[in-house]
Amino acid sequence: MSALLEVNQVSKRFGGDQVALSDVTFSVNQGEFVSIIGPSGAGKSTLLRCINRMIDASSGDITFDNINVTNLRKRDLKKIRTKMGMIFQHYNLVNRLSVIENTLHGNLGKKSTLAGVFGLYSQDEKEEAVKILQVLGLEEHIYNRTDQLSGGQKQRVGIARALIQNPRMLLCDEPIASLDPNSAKIIMDHLRNISTDMGITVLVNLHQVDVAMKYSDQIIGINRGRVVYHGSPKNITKEDIQSIYGSEAEDLIFDIGGIHAS
Ligand code: ADP
Repeated sequence: MSALLEVNQVSKRFGGDQVALSDVTFSVNQGEFVSIIGPSGAGKSTLLRCINRMIDASSGDITFDNINVTNLRKRDLKKIRTKMGMIFQHYNLVNRLSVIENTLHGNLGKKSTLAGVFGLYSQDEKEEAVKILQVLGLEEHIYNRTDQLSGGQKQRVGIARALIQNPRMLLCDEPIASLDPNSAKIIMDHLRNISTDMGITVLVNLHQVDVAMKYSDQIIGINRGRVVYHGSPKNITKEDIQSIYGSEAEDLIFDIGGIHAS
């Protein structure tokens, strides 16, 4: 199986000497669920932003679906971004709009500016939006304004908006960091199903090691911009956690102690 995403020796510097990513290399297959873990400031968010070119890497290459995205021009970039759905910690929804309107916004990237401005969506698009909202358990809220929803429901709208693009991959930047444990579990279960049942690759930045271990096919551990662990959750050891989290590791090792001893 050839990889869907290949990140090859990617580095990112901000300003002169602020190194956010250093020589990051890994690949991800179609349908895999991959968690990127590491302490605050490790470079997780910068990595996702480099992959969808919200920011440009300082060096290295990123290949997605056999296309080198590193040097793509605006038009081709827009096209490839429709294949990479993005999920944000703070949802990035338009609060005064309804759930279905926010979901349909996911299709803006495929439309002319004019059609987008006037909110012109076809019957097929609306039916597709309803179908996706049903899968995500939001059928009772389709016409509600999004500011009437709980955090967990808002994040499900964020997922719906990404899915309507018909993506091959979802990039999720701390999708459960603002949620209570119960809502977080619902979101993680949906993301896992999206990868397993729909064959969509899911790349998710997480703070919580225990969550990453429970849901992932692969874990990538980052410390100060460098990949210090890459492998199956089954093989991760206390020493690996230590090298990923440094001084924060003690509490986390306590958390995973019951899952497996190293
Ligand atoms: P994480 O997502 O793991 O918390 P980030 O990717 O947000 O980490 O940040 C990695 C490093 O890059 C941090 O030191 C952060 O301060 C720095 N950084 C991120 N974005 C910028 C920016 N726009 N300008 C300058 N430094 C930045």
